Amino acid sequence: MSYTKTIGILGGGQLGQMMAIAAIYRGHRVVVLDPAADCPASKVAEVIVAPYDDENAVRELAKRSDLITYEFENVDANALDSVATLTNIPQGTDLLRMTQDRRREKAFLKDAGIPIAPYQVIESAADLPEEISQVRVLKTARGGYDGHGQVVIRDEEDLKKARELADSAPCVLEDFLTFEMEISVIVSGNGKDITVFPVQENIHRHNILSKTIVPARISDELAQKAKALAWKIAKNLQLYGTLCIEMFVAGGEILVNELAPRPHNSGHYSIEACDFSQFDTHILGILGENLPEITLHAPAVMLNVLGQDMQKAISYQKEHPKAHLHLYGKEQAKHNRKMGHVTVLTDRPDEVEEFHL
Ligand code: AMP
Repeated sequence: MSYTKTIGILGGGQLGQMMAIAAIYRGHRVVVLDPAADCPASKVAEVIVAPYDDENAVRELAKRSDLITYEFENVDANALDSVATLTNIPQGTDLLRMTQDRRREKAFLKDAGIPIAPYQVIESAADLPEEISQVRVLKTARGGYDGHGQVVIRDEEDLKKARELADSAPCVLEDFLTFEMEISVIVSGNGKDITVFPVQENIHRHNILSKTIVPARISDELAQKAKALAWKIAKNLQLYGTLCIEMFVAGGEILVNELAPRPHNSGHYSIEACDFSQFDTHILGILGENLPEITLHAPAVMLNVLGQDMQKAISYQKEHPKAHLHLYGKEQAKHNRKMGHVTVLTDRPDEVEEFHL
């Protein structure tokens, strides 16, 4: 049996590209399915150009691949199930279905004994409270991202908007937390064993990740707690591949916010700052190979480069040749579009200024 595999990836954005790079230098071949012929992964992999929900294209990807993975969670799980006889899907589709619906995800976390913000399921506006007794946030159960599909309910006006949202789609209503910090933990599995990355501190601007600081500036005790929660979740899922767990530090406690069943923007620092990146362990994990324990070589800061930041990022790299500039090869630098990132190895994170505020 050949060691070399062909790995199919649903989605050829920057995550698909970085997964492909990690696979290719281990000798594997990569084919991606993406609607855009010039997607970031096209620089390093073959592309089947078709919409994600094109059944024939998904079947072609399956036929050409020894195994399939995905770079984003809104993949059509039914389409993936329908090709399960043609290829291997080590991650399965249960985790996908769960992370596609906040109702299922929260029920899983609650049942697993993971601390989360108090919440209730809202199937329609009739389930919303009549009056505002405390600040809460309403989130659509499916399809929300980067703060889209969310209403923070502070006053009557917000409650009106919340009613409209709740009547348009099933939602969850969470207590609004005054958190000290947002953190995340990357964890990878091979179906048996789990490896956990250091805790990341995340700073968002307008709901988009702007800066990640590693290690997060929290006590060792809290960091151990965060890593233990990540381990417990991964163990419970019998995880294959990489998962990111987003958490809040609130009142000296850790509460899990949400799961992303894939490598994550907040884990990009691992390419230079760790001995193995979140993409390496994703590939190793889905192939069922042994997973390394992760070592952080140096504290790091990652800055996202959005469309409006391109010139600043390029100048920054010129002025700081030790900064690692990654550009994903996207032609159009649109406002707020993730074009790349910069990783700086430093123990003075405050001195690394974000490109946008
Ligand atoms: P999410 O889509 O769940 O990742 O939420 C997007 C952002 O909204 C998070 O990164 C937080 O900054 C904020 N947020 C989400 N849930 C809560 C909450 N329960 N309390 C306070 N802020 C929240």
